[in-house]
Amino acid sequence: MSQTVLELKKVLVDFNGFKAINKLYFTVNSNSVHFVIGPNGAGKTTLLDVICGKTKATDGQITLQKQRELTKLREDQIVHQGISRKFQTPSIFQELTVLENLEVAMKQKKNLFSMIKAKWTNEQESRINEMLHLIGLYLAKDQPAGSLAHGQKQWLEIAMVLMQEPDIILLDEPIAGMSKKERNKTGELITKIAKNRAVLIVEHDMDFVKKYADIVSVMHEGQLLFEGTMEQVQSDPKVREVYLGR
Ligand code: ADP
Repeated sequence: MSQTVLELKKVLVDFNGFKAINKLYFTVNSNSVHFVIGPNGAGKTTLLDVICGKTKATDGQITLQKQRELTKLREDQIVHQGISRKFQTPSIFQELTVLENLEVAMKQKKNLFSMIKAKWTNEQESRINEMLHLIGLYLAKDQPAGSLAHGQKQWLEIAMVLMQEPDIILLDEPIAGMSKKERNKTGELITKIAKNRAVLIVEHDMDFVKKYADIVSVMHEGQLLFEGTMEQVQSDPKVREVYLGR
């Protein structure tokens, strides 16, 4: 069953008088693929920034699992609370193999500064193998990450973020620059990932949103204009006026 994992109450992000997020109420539920759409400048990126702590809220509350208040925490502390973000630009280690990249991510979870090769427990080893299968790179595990195709690099990075075992994963336009086949694989991957966590995605590609969304939030001028299934979003007159119909 889906439960509220994250709740924003009256969140304000004010950049010198410009309200990029304007007293926003917003909730994220577990086990859901949740897209955020809206015109340029609507505040979508700022929403992800304020959730992961990259940008501080000027006012309001952000609460995880109905108890942990996030607004005062630093970005690294928020990761430890269970919210991880994958940025658009890949940040994998190009010269390391696929497997080694996942090992580094595993070590970051264990201890940020311990980069010495440790012996993995069976449980850790099976977690890494599970990730390699999930992203379809098991057979490529000994290849340098730099030699992977664009889509594969993105999936590897998603797997690295998943090694943090987040309750919520934040993605910025995950299919940017991908082929049709890669987009489909990414959609399938996201659907699988959302089986036991929330995935919050900023996306412009409406075909992709339509295909994979459980819920869609439409932002406009730092506020929520509409929220519902993609079908409901597409037939809402307000949304058509400010975004889809243009
Ligand atoms: P979106 O992702 O929906 O295109 P953004 O969240 O990037 O929108 O931006 C919302 C608005 O806030 C934009 O008008 C943008 O110029 C402004 N903005 C974003 N970050 C800053 C910042 N650091 N300082 C000032 N204005 C900002």
